[in-house]
Amino acid sequence: PPLYKQRHQFVIEFVKRFAPRKVLDVGCADCRLLTTLKVHRHGVELLAGVDIDCAAIQRRKHALAPLSSDYLVPGDRPLTIELYHGSVMEKEPCTKGFDLVTCIELIEHLDPGDVEKFSDGVFGYMVPHAVIISTPNAEFNPVLPGLTGFRHKDHKFEWTRAQFSTWALGICWKYGYSVEFTGVGEAQDRDVGFCSQIAVFQRDTELNAPVNNTYLVPQVYRLVCVVYPS
Ligand code: SAM
Repeated sequence: PPLYKQRHQFVIEFVKRFAPRKVLDVGCADCRLLTTLKVHRHGVELLAGVDIDCAAIQRRKHALAPLSSDYLVPGDRPLTIELYHGSVMEKEPCTKGFDLVTCIELIEHLDPGDVEKFSDGVFGYMVPHAVIISTPNAEFNPVLPGLTGFRHKDHKFEWTRAQFSTWALGICWKYGYSVEFTGVGEAQDRDVGFCSQIAVFQRDTELNAPVNNTYLVPQVYRLVCVVYPS
């Protein structure tokens, strides 16, 4: 499968293992990951997404509309979906209290000088139980045919494994998380690491701690779409 699907599959596997109730996807773009999570939700009750690009959110949001088959799985709790237009650099009270925040291929689009503010927003302000961050592994680039420079013209940086782990270990120390490194996309016969490197952060707190952030009215973000259980 294409790499983006492998990244999304990684998130699904995590959700299957840890059964978070509230998942926020930052930089959700056209909501593909959220759509996949809706189908394989393993008990998720709130799925939220935010992106700075409102048109991207709108593009495929119809795929999140309720289907009659959504009501056929016995025992499933109702699912709420909320999509926001906003920047992950802003502090929005609605983003607090999530069990899992996913951030797939977003950080490399930030100015390097903004990464610290981003980290503080996610780990210091949102304080989710778990965070999954994926980003290109620069060491893999020589394996990609014909590539000169970064993988995408909008990338502001691409980190080596050492740079990624230095950043991640700094997060753990500062905000009280532990981290495990993995990735998707493997090179044959070359020790360059994964194509997409992934860090999975977890706090020592109980997963699914009770919080009542559902149905909060956003203060900074703008709610562009909501699917409430009927
Ligand atoms: N996460 C998606 C996925 O798994 O396929 C797509 C990631 S796409 C490469 C990067 C996304 O991050 C874009 O949709 C972009 O608009 C969004 N983005 C960039 N800066 C952002 C910011 N400050 N706040 C929210 N979203 C941002």
